[in-house]
Amino acid sequence: MGRLTAIVLGAAAGGGVPQWNCRCEVCQLAWSGDPRVKPRTQASLAVSADNEHWALLNASPDLRAQIAANPDLHPHDNKRDGGKRSSPISAVLLTGAEIDQTAGLLNLRERSPFTLHATAATLAALADNPMFGALAANVVTRRAIVPGQRFALVAGLEAELFLVPGKVPLYLEGDDPDTASESAANVGIEISHGSSRLVYVPGAAAVTPAIRQRLDRADVVMFDGTVLTDDEMIRTGTGTKTGRRMGHMPLDGPDGSLAALAGLRARRIFVHINNTNPILIEGSPERMRVAAAGWEVAEDGLKVTL
Ligand SMILES: [Zn+2]
Repeated sequence: MGRLTAIVLGAAAGGGVPQWNCRCEVCQLAWSGDPRVKPRTQASLAVSADNEHWALLNASPDLRAQIAANPDLHPHDNKRDGGKRSSPISAVLLTGAEIDQTAGLLNLRERSPFTLHATAATLAALADNPMFGALAANVVTRRAIVPGQRFALVAGLEAELFLVPGKVPLYLEGDDPDTASESAANVGIEISHGSSRLVYVPGAAAVTPAIRQRLDRADVVMFDGTVLTDDEMIRTGTGTKTGRRMGHMPLDGPDGSLAALAGLRARRIFVHINNTNPILIEGSPERMRVAAAGWEVAEDGLKVTL
């Protein structure tokens, strides 16, 4: 019955590595071609149980290049009508409606059918933007998913969404956004195939006891690695917001993800890594510290089979 396969299409947070307008220490190394910092595209994961039908977890602005870089996602002849337009991508599942989670949908507008799964809140945010009407409703089926209810995603794979503390998309923020509560605007994904479980959480402001219990049952955990320290953007002169203000808990500190997720039995991989995060520099003290804690740092193209 095949095995659960996951491919990290993109390992970086919004902006990618290097980011177009950034010369922070990490981006500077990447711009100069230093082999210690591998370029990375914006976060997305592809999953399959049969290597023929794939689901994308989030659709990043880099999706077109990500498809090109991964032969598993290249188009094939249409088995039904013998035509030349068909894709192994048969579903997209969204964790939220941020630009870096959804803009890639616009790359999928050439009238090949797939199912778009997301919470009702996320689908409503997309429906409010007329540009996503390019994904014609009679070609791309929208399916509202209720968190906590397991559903069939693609052949052989089931999925379940669960609430994760976070925030609404940046473009929907008011002046004083709530960045730490649970709502259907920000969710994590559990993928299961038989008894194998992979959990994907690209954005989390905190780890609740319920989330920790779910991660304790997982075989592979891919978790929010946006910033190492809460004040990283401020300290590196790249921004004015803390990690938590952006809806992302830092790795470091007593309330950070390294402490909150200590002792997990799962294979642990940081994803959605911001270009300011020094764990992106191979051989750096920060990278060695997370490795010593049992964490991998995802790269584009990383393939995990359970
Ligand atoms: Zn940078």
